[in-house]
Amino acid sequence: MRYAIISDIHGNIEALSAILGDVEAQGADEVLCVGDLVGYGADPNECIEAVRGNCSVVVAGNHDWASVGKLSLEYFNAAARRAAEWTEGVLSSNNRRYLLNLPLTAAAGEGILLVHSSPAHPEQWMYLFHPGQAAREFASFSQQVCFVGHTHQPAVFTDNGGFHLGESLSDFRMGAGTRYLVNVGSVGQPRDGNPKAAYCLFNSEELSLELRRVEYDVALSSMKIVESNLPQSLAERLPLGL
Ligand code: ZN
Repeated sequence: MRYAIISDIHGNIEALSAILGDVEAQGADEVLCVGDLVGYGADPNECIEAVRGNCSVVVAGNHDWASVGKLSLEYFNAAARRAAEWTEGVLSSNNRRYLLNLPLTAAAGEGILLVHSSPAHPEQWMYLFHPGQAAREFASFSQQVCFVGHTHQPAVFTDNGGFHLGESLSDFRMGAGTRYLVNVGSVGQPRDGNPKAAYCLFNSEELSLELRRVEYDVALSSMKIVESNLPQSLAERLPLGL
C-alpha cells in the first residue's frame, strides 16, 4: 500500500488543493490525516470538507478541538486564540460536529498509528523536536510506524536513537526491525524555512518514506487571511515558511 499522510492544514485550502493534486499524481492508495485541519487560515469549512472527501482516517489536532470549545485557549498565543475564535464563528454546524467527534489517536492498516502530538500523552499536546524527547515515546505504542504533526517541522526519529531532518527524505529506506516516529510536516503553515506545502508518502511494502514539497499560491492564502480580519502576522509568516 502507498499511503499519503498529511497534517497541519490550518484552513489553507490553496495548500491543501495543491497537495491533493500531487497525491493523486503520485498514485497513493489512501490518504491519512494527523490533525489541525483548521486554525490560522481563512478557509476552515472548505478544508474540512476536502479532508472528509479524501482521507480514510483522521485524528484531532489541538486547533481542531480549540475551535469547537473542546480545548481551553489558555495555552494559545494571542494570534492562535484569535484564529480559533474566528474559526468557531464561521464553522458550519455539520463541520463543527465533525471536529468534536475526531479521536485523539487511531490505528491505520499495516502497523500504523496516527496521533497529532505525542503517542505517549496525546491529550497533553507536547511538541517532539529532539531525539531525546522522541525516545520516550516508543514504549507507548506497538505499531512499527507512528505518524505525527504539531511542530510543523518534518523529521524522522527511530527507536535506536536515529534522527533525520525532513530535507534529507527524498527516498528514505526503512529497516524491517526498526520502529519509526515520523513528523510529516505541515500542509498549510510550514515552519522549517521552506514555504512549500509538505506531506509524506509511505510505501508499506517497500518500507520507504518520501517527504514531498509542493508549490502553491501562497500570496492568495495570505491575502485571504488579511481580508478575513485574521491577525496580519498569520499572513506574513506564510511566504517565509516560519
Ligand atoms: Zn498545527
